Amino acid sequence: MDYKKTLNLPQTRFSMKAGLPQKEPLWLEKWKKSDLYKNILHEREKNGADSYTLHDGPPYANGNIHMGHALNKVLKDIVVKYQTMKGLKAKYIPGWDCHGLPIEHQVMQKLRKKKQTKTPLEVRALCREYAQNFVTKQTEEFKRLGIWACWDTPYLTMDYSYEANIIRLFGDLVERGYVGRGVKPVHWCAQCETALAEAEIEYDTHVSSSVYVRLKCSEGWAEKIGSNLSGGASLIIWTTTPWTLPSNMAVAVHPKLDYVLVEAGGETFFVAKDLLLKVISVVLAKDIDDISESDYKVLSEIKGSQLEGIRYEPLFDEYKKDKDEASSDTKDFSVILADFVTAEDGTGCVHIAPGHGEEDFHVAQSYGLGLRMFVDGRGKYMNGAPDFLVGKFIFKSNEPIIEYLETNEFLLKKEEISHSYPHCWRCHKVTFLRATEQWFINVDHNNLRERVLEIMDDVKWVPEWGFTRLSEMVKNRPHWCISRQRAWGVPIPVFYCRSCSHTVLDVSLIREVAEKIDNKGCDVWYSDTVNELCSLSKCEKCGEENFDKETDILDVWFDSGASHYALLKKSIDLNFPAQLYLEGSDQHRGWFQSSFLLSVAGSDVKPFEEVLTHGFVVDGQGHKMSKSVGNVVSPQKLIQAYGADLVRLFVASSDYADDIKISDDIMRQKVDAYRKIRNTCRFLLGNTFDFCPEKDEVAYKELTSIDRWALSKLQILIERSTYYYENHLFHKFYQEIYHFCTTEMSSFYFDILKDRLYTATPKSIERLSSQTVMKEILITLTRLMAPIFVFTSEDIWENMPDSWKPKSFVHEESWPIKNDQFIDASLEKEWEKIHEVRDQALKIIEKLRADKVIGSSLEALLTLHLPESFFDLFSEYSDNLAMIFIVSEVKIVKDTELKIVATKINGSKCVRCWIYSPSVGENLEHIELCDKCSTVMGELL
Ligand SMILES: [Zn+2]
Ligand SMILES: [Zn+2]
Ligand SMILES: [Zn+2]
Repeated sequence: MDYKKTLNLPQTRFSMKAGLPQKEPLWLEKWKKSDLYKNILHEREKNGADSYTLHDGPPYANGNIHMGHALNKVLKDIVVKYQTMKGLKAKYIPGWDCHGLPIEHQVMQKLRKKKQTKTPLEVRALCREYAQNFVTKQTEEFKRLGIWACWDTPYLTMDYSYEANIIRLFGDLVERGYVGRGVKPVHWCAQCETALAEAEIEYDTHVSSSVYVRLKCSEGWAEKIGSNLSGGASLIIWTTTPWTLPSNMAVAVHPKLDYVLVEAGGETFFVAKDLLLKVISVVLAKDIDDISESDYKVLSEIKGSQLEGIRYEPLFDEYKKDKDEASSDTKDFSVILADFVTAEDGTGCVHIAPGHGEEDFHVAQSYGLGLRMFVDGRGKYMNGAPDFLVGKFIFKSNEPIIEYLETNEFLLKKEEISHSYPHCWRCHKVTFLRATEQWFINVDHNNLRERVLEIMDDVKWVPEWGFTRLSEMVKNRPHWCISRQRAWGVPIPVFYCRSCSHTVLDVSLIREVAEKIDNKGCDVWYSDTVNELCSLSKCEKCGEENFDKETDILDVWFDSGASHYALLKKSIDLNFPAQLYLEGSDQHRGWFQSSFLLSVAGSDVKPFEEVLTHGFVVDGQGHKMSKSVGNVVSPQKLIQAYGADLVRLFVASSDYADDIKISDDIMRQKVDAYRKIRNTCRFLLGNTFDFCPEKDEVAYKELTSIDRWALSKLQILIERSTYYYENHLFHKFYQEIYHFCTTEMSSFYFDILKDRLYTATPKSIERLSSQTVMKEILITLTRLMAPIFVFTSEDIWENMPDSWKPKSFVHEESWPIKNDQFIDASLEKEWEKIHEVRDQALKIIEKLRADKVIGSSLEALLTLHLPESFFDLFSEYSDNLAMIFIVSEVKIVKDTELKIVATKINGSKCVRCWIYSPSVGENLEHIELCDKCSTVMGELL
């Protein structure tokens, strides 16, 4: 007889091979067909569920998605799916940042020569089309990753209503007094021809020419320091931006630092005492170690404060006239005092160019100095600069300037230095500071800065260093320059009187404009006349009736930073503050900060309760991915090769607190892990195919010991998994579930169960006991994994018998809740002991196999010498020991210490269960079977 047919071998359609790249799109279709996410939201709504709002930081609508997008959106999706399973109404509205320079840039590049002929309205229309195109593309790519969102109703910063809300928020800020206009040095990109925000600057190394320059003190310097010395003296300055020298207006010293007047090499000059030798080495062109006391003579020692007011001759002849004509109380071209001067670098005498430096600008203002800013938007010197420079690009002017200094005997030394320098984040060109008229948000008005810092303390930061990072940035940030000299964006709703230049910044007019924009979008600003836009009719200053519209647009960080206002506050389905903002760590500088500033400035509250930041995806060596290096890994390729669930596993299993490495090797490891987890599920499915809960379920008290153990372990898994999901520790969850599947299930529980599952009578109590628990494990495990393996979990779910599940999709299910009654700590301890002995025994058996004494472990007879403490426990399990150790027989003996002996067993092999037993041959009806199998056969026939 063919006894094999009498075994309960596993049956399932859930294949070993995943085939995710082909199968996943089918699931997407099924979800779409049944409108799954919307239906769930609808049901939550019906049940009056609370909302959970993860507010999407809008990615820029430019290009296909890259690994950074995939990482970010998958993390968000895990949160959304988890919260949904918890029963909350987690409505996730995706956003896109649509305005701004990069898109305008792309459009302009495509236009080439035609760009000169295009009106702002035509350019804007092309930009809108461009952005919309990428919104559509990225939507499809995000969907393919299994991400749930209200894809049909995203928020776009170029939506008319969104644009109107940006204007309204701007109006609120005007009303509260935060908005102002002024001349200030702002970061400027000559390539992009626009001001840049702090957030748009990246630092990179740059080689600059550094020069030591001699400025000749004007007559009267000696009296200033109470000295009767006669003859000349000079101030020596040091700068790494020689191109700013035409803007020099003063020399700053620190009031409390010690300075000396020194004579060396025929030169008499002032220098900070601590930098004396260094500067002498410059003057004498000598190595610092070779300088002896005879090389120089200190003539006088003074405090910096005593130098104040010493005048000097301008470097350029063009300015001499100005100096001579200026009244005696002007401080131009004189020594001023500033606290930011240090004795760490240079000479202690600092070149001040108010038009090109933040600190320079402020100190110059306090002294009432002039502002000589002769650089235009393209980075070229304008009229007013020395003649030989007019029309030249500043970064190409160091050479002629140095030549000029040399000819006129101002130059002491020049050298090249490599240092960290600001670059434009878009075009990567070197940027510079340029004083221009701009619109600002005053971050100190109404104590905004302090209040932001205070309210930030009331937010949960994951990881915690996010707080320190952002608060340091807020503490040190300058006022926010919000104007940009471009076309593609939201206009700054301000008017200027044509006759008297009066600036009209009026809240009610701004709100009128917002209404117009709500209907027709920001294009109305360009298409409509002032009269059509609002009720402004007469200038309150001069009574004239003609106005110009502001041509600057708002910084895009204002656009996206307004999302809490435009979206969260306006939607009844969403919470404000949101529960969670979740973005890459670059957003401390960007969106987290702009959102926080605008939210506190506009309505005195935080925009989010919790913020999570993640690192970046880097290559296998930890290098930044870049097209030019050729180390880019794209999510599209990964999906094609492995499937979206593997991309999701990659994301979930990585510790996002740091940068995350990706390579073929790393993906192969993930595939391996995935297979193990998949096979665990497959085993559960295969061995429960004939289990019908209504008829077959075994009550808890009647479960066998090992099944109760597994059920207890499952509760611990639920508890830990919930904790990990709740705290966004997905990589810990992954480790937990991987350990559970491989160590606790596959190589222990299942191993022990196999004999029982395959060879027992199908409806025997032992088999049903195991199936009762296996079903529970499978249902629970699938739900725990569902937020990560969004497709695989559906596949498992579909392959479960229908009678098991009330819902057709796993994502409709609720989150597992642990049952404390199933937790049995003492039972777990018992099995821990057994597990320990088993591990040792398996090694001994393995050795026997390696030595070819036995073939399979079932050919072994195990004798366990057990100390008292183990003996009682093992006696209790004596009936099951052979099954536990996967041998044919286990004998136990009391001994002083643990000793395990394995030998080859005598007896014959049962052809049905393969166990060696002396009983084989005893039953004449089943001569080839052991007594156990004979009994089973008796029951079956
Ligand atoms: Zn640029
Ligand atoms: Zn006027
Ligand atoms: Zn048998």
